[in-house]
Amino acid sequence: MDATVNRAVFLDRDGTLVADGRYAHDPEKMVLLGGVCAGLRLLETAGYQLIVVTNQSGIALDYFTEPELHRMHERLAQLLAEEGVRIGAFYYCPHHPRGAVAEYAFDCTCRKPAPGMLLKAAEEHQIDLPRSWLIGDILDDVEAGNQAGCRSILLNVGTETLPTVPSRTPAYVARDFLAAVRFILASDDLL
Ligand SMILES: [Mg+2]
Repeated sequence: MDATVNRAVFLDRDGTLVADGRYAHDPEKMVLLGGVCAGLRLLETAGYQLIVVTNQSGIALDYFTEPELHRMHERLAQLLAEEGVRIGAFYYCPHHPRGAVAEYAFDCTCRKPAPGMLLKAAEEHQIDLPRSWLIGDILDDVEAGNQAGCRSILLNVGTETLPTVPSRTPAYVARDFLAAVRFILASDDLL
């Protein structure tokens, strides 16, 4: 692999890496989902950068603050580090078009399904998007990944009906996180 170009797996946070508490912001209540540590270790060993991309409109809606979000991500990084996994970077979208906090209340280009967080990460970390992947639990994640030019995997948690439009169609529907990882490794001939 070209040493100057990296491949990444973009990871949704809530419902993908950790249990999805609605607008969760208590680091002590954060719970990693099954297979996540093992799956991330496999991806890291295979040479993928691990990059979290998460919509956190709770900031715009005034449910929690950016410092509180940073504490959540410090906790997540710590939980994963204890399992030998290193997250390369965290990107979040604090915006919402109808937010209560003026500085975050606008129609941004980073809130998934827009691809802004992935494009920014690609620029900042020299990531080759067509050789990269996204794993998420809703179709807005899939669309963001597709729009960025990645291949996208939907975790089938039963909340989404598969679409017929290509922009929201995943490359694969995985029954759980480890199945998503195995599909990635098999697709890239790394198994
Ligand atoms: Mg999610």
